[in-house]
Amino acid sequence: MKQKETLSTTPLKEQHIDLSNLLLEEMGDEHKASSVETPLRADAFDISDEEKIAAIAPHFKAIMEILGMDLKDDSLRGTPLRVAKMYVKELFQGLNPANMPSMTLFENKFQYNEMLVEKNINFYTNCEHHFVPFFGKAHVAYISSGKVIGLSKLNRLVEYFSKRPQVQERLTMQIGKALQTVLQTQDIAVMMDAKHLCVSSRGVKDDSSNTITTYFGGKFQEENTKNEFLKYIDIND
Ligand SMILES: [Zn+2]
Repeated sequence: MKQKETLSTTPLKEQHIDLSNLLLEEMGDEHKASSVETPLRADAFDISDEEKIAAIAPHFKAIMEILGMDLKDDSLRGTPLRVAKMYVKELFQGLNPANMPSMTLFENKFQYNEMLVEKNINFYTNCEHHFVPFFGKAHVAYISSGKVIGLSKLNRLVEYFSKRPQVQERLTMQIGKALQTVLQTQDIAVMMDAKHLCVSSRGVKDDSSNTITTYFGGKFQEENTKNEFLKYIDIND
């Protein structure tokens, strides 16, 4: 909250103090996201994946060397290229909308108009503030508006948005909003329950805490429907 108050009540330009770096650092440590959209540059995909890998590798090599590591060692020699490939082709491939899974809808032939819950979807993603993993379970639900979707597509959509540098609040909202668009209904619920390595392995070193985020749209904002969903996922399972 502190940072929000500063932003809204203190006109930075009039103060002639450049607080932007300070605010950004504070924002990162508190794990706040600035918008629902992942901040992307306009030229994000002007170069190919292969060009990105070739460009990232020397930068990662430089970081290792600055840390003092000897890249002549056989164990380390391949690391810069390995990391570059992993970033572009695996961990962050969801940055590129071209990698969004296809979402085929089917007619709801059974006229099933109750809640559908897909729970315990494992996800792995990386914190955009520290570039270390956070991971856990996603639980998603919808009430069909007449269309249904293959169950595995729910997992794929969670995976797609996870393959970006992320903030858990944004990840949860991106999945929720995408499901609303795909399924053509507002009646969507998403809950994510995650452990953050940037909290457990560094900083305050708290390895017992979990972070829970939710997105409730349409009927899921009503107490009865929300409670039904929460009962099904019973996250203490
Ligand atoms: Zn972090």
